[in-house]
Amino acid sequence: MKPRTLSVHAGQHPDPQTGALTTPVYQSSTFSYFTAEQGRQRFAGETPGFFYSRMGNPTTHTLEAKLAALEGAEDALAVASGMAALSSVAYGLLSHGDEVAFIDPLYGGSDAFLQNTLPRAGMHVTRYRDEHDLAQNIKPNTRLIIFEPLTNPTLTVIDTDAVVAVARRVGALTLADNTFLTPYLFRPLERGVDLVMHSATKYLSGHGDLIAGVVAGRRELLTPIRTIGLKHLGAPLGPQEAYLLLRGIKTLPLRMDAHSEAALAVAEYLSAHPKVTRTYYPGLSSHPGHATLAAQVAQFSGVMAIDIGGDAGAAARFLDHLQLFVQAVSLGDVESLACHPATTTHAAMKAEHRAGAGVTDGLVRLSIGIEDADDLIADLAQALEYV
Ligand SMILES: *Cc1c(COP(=O)(O)O)cnc(C)c1O
Repeated sequence: MKPRTLSVHAGQHPDPQTGALTTPVYQSSTFSYFTAEQGRQRFAGETPGFFYSRMGNPTTHTLEAKLAALEGAEDALAVASGMAALSSVAYGLLSHGDEVAFIDPLYGGSDAFLQNTLPRAGMHVTRYRDEHDLAQNIKPNTRLIIFEPLTNPTLTVIDTDAVVAVARRVGALTLADNTFLTPYLFRPLERGVDLVMHSATKYLSGHGDLIAGVVAGRRELLTPIRTIGLKHLGAPLGPQEAYLLLRGIKTLPLRMDAHSEAALAVAEYLSAHPKVTRTYYPGLSSHPGHATLAAQVAQFSGVMAIDIGGDAGAAARFLDHLQLFVQAVSLGDVESLACHPATTTHAAMKAEHRAGAGVTDGLVRLSIGIEDADDLIADLAQALEYV
């Protein structure tokens, strides 16, 4: 089936008992079994069936089936947040003494978890500048490589094929955080990546109304990640959030087409504007990662960044005069959002690291929603008058 059909139908079916078309919210912490023997069998994993919502819930289970179908994966796990997805993978697969690699830059929370928290559990974590640094300097005992194919704040592109080639050479597993591209635009598992994760808070939900995370891949890998993530870390996704995600995902392809189309028009406008010193959008042929990503995706999603002369005052005046764009962190919502990374998402970074990553005081990140591009451009144009 094609993506639009899959997004609507995959994993779900009318409720066998009532015929309800929409997946019901099974708002129940516990599930009764009808004989003691049935209880024993469910706990032993000998027969399928739910017994306690920390370990599994029918609404969340339906969501997981849809997510697995979209990723082309054997299995998928839904958890309480994107950070819960990452920590479930780490604690599910790694042990004391294991070597972990990550490619810079990662989402700030992921970076902090890998560099500050995992070493306290005895894992060795090494940061690589890019896929070339990884290829040249990878430690041969590396167990897991973590990267984002498209990433904050300047929309760096990491070549997934190159990372997979290095991983195969040393026998490491790979985890791609594909939050920015979504399975509609890019499916890392099809290119040989072992595990894909998302902050489902962003495009998969699409409506800015929940926090959720996803991991998908082979069952053999997902089983320990599920056990640790749900049973031990205790981070299941609640049925209400699962229901909202099921609803959001049905329109994922429509939304991603609209985000990508509007973002390209906005980026073309901004890149020609005299007050914008740089526009970072991977759909522009001037972006350093354009050729690599264009070989792997048909559209470039909705996040971009612009530099307004490296100047904090100019960036603040621009942000404060936006009328349609809302000032907020996060991304992937139907509403267009704008934020100032140097003082919000990247404020915790050391000043020299910020400069090296292109996070100047004039950098503004834009998450383009699904509004009409003409209206967004008119709003940006009037706000740039104040710069
Ligand atoms: C937001 C985000 C996360 C963290 O997800 P939460 O749902 O906020 O826990 C991880 N990775 C990326 C790329 C993100 O954008």
